[in-house]
Amino acid sequence: MKAIIAKPPEKNSVRLAEIPKPIIKKGEVLLKTLCLGIDGTDREINEGIYGTPPRGFDYIVLGHEALARVQEIGEQVEGFSEGDLVVPTVRRPCEENCLNCRNGETDMCLTGNYFEHGIYRLHGFASEYTVSDANFLVKVPEELGDVAVLLEPLSIVEKAISQSFKIQERMAWQPKKAFVIGAGSLGLLATVILRLRGLEVYAADIKDKGSLNAEIVRSVGAKYVNVRESPINTLGEKFDILLEATGRVEAALAALNLFGPDSVMCVLGIYREEKACQEFGRVLTNLVLGNRLIFGSVNSNKSHFEMGIKDMLEIKSKHEKILDRLITKKLNLADFEQAFKVGGGDIKSIISFG
Ligand SMILES: [Zn+2]
Repeated sequence: MKAIIAKPPEKNSVRLAEIPKPIIKKGEVLLKTLCLGIDGTDREINEGIYGTPPRGFDYIVLGHEALARVQEIGEQVEGFSEGDLVVPTVRRPCEENCLNCRNGETDMCLTGNYFEHGIYRLHGFASEYTVSDANFLVKVPEELGDVAVLLEPLSIVEKAISQSFKIQERMAWQPKKAFVIGAGSLGLLATVILRLRGLEVYAADIKDKGSLNAEIVRSVGAKYVNVRESPINTLGEKFDILLEATGRVEAALAALNLFGPDSVMCVLGIYREEKACQEFGRVLTNLVLGNRLIFGSVNSNKSHFEMGIKDMLEIKSKHEKILDRLITKKLNLADFEQAFKVGGGDIKSIISFG
């Protein structure tokens, strides 16, 4: 069968390969892949700066944002039928099966010895057929079939926002204003969800006001800020909840000027720039004097995928085509390489497996 593979740490190693069709074991389900989303992590694996093949392999099958149909059910699997539409979660429990992994919160793994489909020590879903442990599959209603490929990135946002609310139970908290830094796929999904939660939302990016990204922000009743025209520190507004989705140190630091009292900021990027922060004392004092909090969030678990399904149904009823508009490029498997080229105003590229 055909698969998209990469050989990290080799640079630009992504290619189409012929590999054996997987055989399922007890507790597993064979899936027929329908489509696959590509994100920054996939591109970084192709750039050779991320990704670890499974033991005994010199390549890794890519892909962690998938939509698939159940093709065959292994022994001791309950609750699934052939033909079910499903999205697999990404992370699997660590070798030690730590407290959090045992508790279904693999995203909060304590040891770091976890496995991640398509990223870390486990093949991904970018092949015609793929396999998942049935315990980590999420059933998707048929009516979400056109957009459910966005469920994995949406689960990242669901975790970030639900954790923010949970953390803020440290006091009486009634957030009114949210600021999302970065209006790419994650930032836009965050904007939509924060609007669903009834907040006044600002979303900022370097893209111009006429861009599709800006249009999507406005279409859900949020305000778009072009940071080239209005730098973040000139906004003159304060926010209760901030979500950093650019992965840029400079953007994250600028957003610290927007902290309201008792506010919370969730950072979602991988900040690879080696930029020194000479004002760290000021940053810390700002946190102390306002009871402010910054926290990081990575990965997501099944509960966040389930929150995502609930919200997708609500988004569909409130903003009919908004999720479809995030999918800006639909490619056939033969043209998959186009998804690894950045730019061109793309929000989300997906690859169809036919
Ligand atoms: Zn663990």
